[in-house]
Amino acid sequence: MIDDRNRWPVTRRQATLALLSLLGTTRFCSASQPKETVESSAAPLHSVHFRDAENNERTVPGRVLVRAADGGLLLEDRAGRLWTVTAEQLVIDEPLNGTFSPLTPVELGAALIDELNSAGSFGDLKATQSGHYVVVSNTGQAFVDWTVAMLERLHDAFRHFWARSGFETHDPEFPLPVVILQSREQFTRLATFDHTPASAQGQGYFLITANRTTLVDLTASEAASSARNIAEVQRLVKRHPASVATVVHEATHQIAFNCGMHRRYADNPVWLTEGIAMYVETPDLNSRRGWQTIGRVNQNRLLQFRDFVAKRRKSDSLQTLLQSNARFAQVDTAIDAYSEAWALTHFLIKTRLRDFTAYLQKIAAQPLLQWGDPEQRLADFTGAFGDLSDIDRNLQQYLRRLA
Ligand SMILES: [Zn+2]
Repeated sequence: MIDDRNRWPVTRRQATLALLSLLGTTRFCSASQPKETVESSAAPLHSVHFRDAENNERTVPGRVLVRAADGGLLLEDRAGRLWTVTAEQLVIDEPLNGTFSPLTPVELGAALIDELNSAGSFGDLKATQSGHYVVVSNTGQAFVDWTVAMLERLHDAFRHFWARSGFETHDPEFPLPVVILQSREQFTRLATFDHTPASAQGQGYFLITANRTTLVDLTASEAASSARNIAEVQRLVKRHPASVATVVHEATHQIAFNCGMHRRYADNPVWLTEGIAMYVETPDLNSRRGWQTIGRVNQNRLLQFRDFVAKRRKSDSLQTLLQSNARFAQVDTAIDAYSEAWALTHFLIKTRLRDFTAYLQKIAAQPLLQWGDPEQRLADFTGAFGDLSDIDRNLQQYLRRLA
């Protein structure tokens, strides 16, 4: 059975494919690298008129992150959505007066409601704002409030954890968009609209292009209606810890991609992005204050990894995991690849934290739209951690002893 947490790379693969098609028609020759503008709110505001992949005409105000030699663009709009515009799709790109600024939470809520209304019929949508999030939902307010509180706790815990570990994160530049839908039918419909229908098998997904996490009401899926109060939410979600883990996992991707740990549309190795999400994913449902479970041994992943080692793991497994994302994208290898990514991340954070944070910093500084050269990926890794066969031996020894 496919692990329902495997959805995010599907989305990422689609994003990558979209970019490869951009790169295929847009010349980024090695002699003249794409010119990259600095991501800052002082960037000039542009209005870009183009035809999208479905041949619809669009005018999107935003900032240009990358301008290719032939005029293709990577554009970020004020909601934080990324648009790839090939030279052929581009109609006109004109600077506007003023500088780029993200939408305010109120504006983002309205934009999300518009987006969902254009995607289909989702009933009565309402926006809820919190410190870092804008949640648009058509389900019971008790589940929305419970989710918002959990997301804020996760955000704070994640950032405190990495600050203590020596990796400085920053506040998200954009309010973080989250959609919570009442029924699985609606959730499936939006996943299809987002071009990631396989995501509908899980309880949530992070869409890298839109910077959006989409969730389904965990309390409404089996009952006749959404939970009426927080106590009822807590009682219902405790029956489904794996579903809550998926929510935490997807929300962790969103935080990591918005606080300076990973860059969207840069070459983030999937073992690392997934390893980070799995390191955090154990939900903390008991504490209202702290978040005690970051880094707890993930028993499901550990069991899977031990089974993999005993029966299927090849001698070059670590190398193939580091060099390419391919094992995550195939049904028959994905679960083992996830377990190995968890094992490697857990091992490195617990035993090589200083080297790990230095490696994170190197990956966080990767340029946009330049995709993994396998040899470079390997060199980045061994440059941070040393000889691969030593790491593999120590990893296996460490995982054998782990309880
Ligand atoms: Zn993931």
